[in-house]
Amino acid sequence: VELEQRIAEHVRDIPDYPKPGVVFKDITPLLADAATFATVVEALAAPFTTGAESGSEGTLAVPDVVVGIEARGFILAAPVAHALGAGFVPIRKQGKLPARTLSATYDLEYGSETMEMHADAFAPGARVLIVDDVLATGGTAAAAMDLVAKAGGTVHGLSFLLELGFLSGREQVPTARPHVLMTV
Ligand code: 5GP
Repeated sequence: VELEQRIAEHVRDIPDYPKPGVVFKDITPLLADAATFATVVEALAAPFTTGAESGSEGTLAVPDVVVGIEARGFILAAPVAHALGAGFVPIRKQGKLPARTLSATYDLEYGSETMEMHADAFAPGARVLIVDDVLATGGTAAAAMDLVAKAGGTVHGLSFLLELGFLSGREQVPTARPHVLMTV
C-alpha cells in the first residue's frame, strides 16, 4: 500500500493524450524522482530474485534475459535486468532493429501494430522476463509473449508498473500471471 501510494503520487493523468477521450498515465515524474525510481525497479524485480519464494515449492529462478518493450519499457527493463544479473533484450517497433528479426502483429483500436525482436536475441530455452510500464489492453504484452515463444524462449514472468484494470489486459496473457505494482 505504501508503494502504491508513492506510485500514485508520482504518476500524473494527462487527459486527451494521445487522442481525445484517452487519459494517459504519465510516468515521467516517477522516473525523475530518484528514490521512487529505485524503489519501483526493485519492486519490479523482486519476485524474480532467487529465493523470492523460498520455503515454498515455487522458488523462481532468476531469468536469463529481461525483455523491454519500446520505448518506456526500455527505461524500466534495463535497470531490472541489471538488478537481477540478467541480460537485456529490446522489442522494438517495425524497422528499428538492424539484424534478422521475428515479428508479431496485433490489432489496435484502429489498424494494427507490428513489433520485432532479433531472432538470435537469446538462446533457445532461455528464461525470459517481460517488463513494460503499463498493461492496458494487453495487445503489446501478448505480442511480446508471442515473440519470446517464436524465438524458443520460455516466458518466465511479466512485470508491469501499472495495470489499467478496466481494460482487462490480463485476459490477453492467460498463461502468465503478470506481476503488477499497482492497478488503477
Ligand atoms: P496495450 O497494448 O496493453 O493496450 O498498451 C500497452 C502499451 O502502450 C505499453 O507499451 C505502454 O507503454 C503503452 N501505454 C498504453 N497506455 C498507456 C498509458 O496510459 N500510459 C503509459 N505510460 N503508457 C501507455
